[in-house]
Amino acid sequence: TRVLLTGGSGFVASHVLDILLAHGHSVVTTVRSQQKADKIKEAHPQYGKDLLDFAIVEDIAEPDAFAKAVISNPPFEAVIHTASPFHFNVTDVQKQLLDPAIVGTTSILHAIKKSAPTVKKVVITSSFAALLDLSKGNWPEHTYWEADWNPITLEAALKHPHAGYQASKTFAEKAAWDFLENEKPNFTVSTIAPPLVFGPVMKSLSSLSSLNTSNQFIQALIMGHMKGQMPNSPGFLWVDVRDVALAHVKAMEQLSGAADNKRFFVVAGHFNTRQVVDAIRRNFPEYSSALPDASLQGGDFPEGGLFKVDNRRSVEVLGLKYRPLEDSVVDTVRSLKALGA
Ligand code: NDP
Repeated sequence: TRVLLTGGSGFVASHVLDILLAHGHSVVTTVRSQQKADKIKEAHPQYGKDLLDFAIVEDIAEPDAFAKAVISNPPFEAVIHTASPFHFNVTDVQKQLLDPAIVGTTSILHAIKKSAPTVKKVVITSSFAALLDLSKGNWPEHTYWEADWNPITLEAALKHPHAGYQASKTFAEKAAWDFLENEKPNFTVSTIAPPLVFGPVMKSLSSLSSLNTSNQFIQALIMGHMKGQMPNSPGFLWVDVRDVALAHVKAMEQLSGAADNKRFFVVAGHFNTRQVVDAIRRNFPEYSSALPDASLQGGDFPEGGLFKVDNRRSVEVLGLKYRPLEDSVVDTVRSLKALGA
């Protein structure tokens, strides 16, 4: 299949790219600069231009950002849209988080409808942030699944970058479903909603300073930044990046139509800080002295219980088999170590 993959320089996208190429697909990936394209190219020397090529899209918040990128020869049959800002280092939530997420999503869908009629499948990276209802707290009696939607408002979104990020994912995914309903395009949409993603950093990453947001939790642990405290885990839910990437590709490859126009909550399960610290200590004694001491208070699951999760749709329709936490943590740490952590 000829595939357009957006945001190829990203953590999740780098694994989507690896799987697409391993499955024999022909990929054009968008990046913001030629330099980023060159780095990805260097990390995949065995693939010629027919299998791995690039399109420069500097800013997905520009309304016509994808006008040219969706046109290719041979024409695209599928699009995987992962590009979206995932960091909290912003001063203007609207411009730096909401616009790229929402406009990025709607503009690529419009561009496909207008100029890429051969595209039959579009897979979009959403997030557990689009399902989560923070106002419910730990919500022990609830099981999160694909029917859940984050009720966040624009007003709340503008107050803080964390809320802004959650809203960016919620509003962008909603915009995609609205597009489908209103525009009745020639393609189907699947959305993939992962919680915090761990896993090996991408091959083209040259330094820890550009480490993606979700792996920064593990980085902070092994670099001793949390030595004196056992903080709560960010969010309590996790998944390995290779499983998230496979979910994107499987949703795209599904011929039966079972994945069409569906959301997928792609979650391995719960985790807490103590489990991650224990897994690192067991496997990497060299980091033992940097880690929070096991005797510290905190880092457990909340005493009153916690929401549950239902990932059955991803298992049944996409055939996912989730990696265990320890494997994911070990592979993440190994990759960070190789970068000098
Ligand atoms: P990264 O920061 O590694 O990747 C984000 C990608 O989006 C990068 O390629 C980045 O390009 C690109 N991008 C961001 N803003 C723009 C913009 N304005 N114009 C053009 N490109 C842009 O993060 P992840 O790989 O983790 O995130 C990928 C997707 O997965 C996102 O949609 C994110 O919301 C989602 N997700 C991630 C989770 C996680 O825990 N990692 C959890 C749930 C969802 P550049 O690097 O050049 O800026």
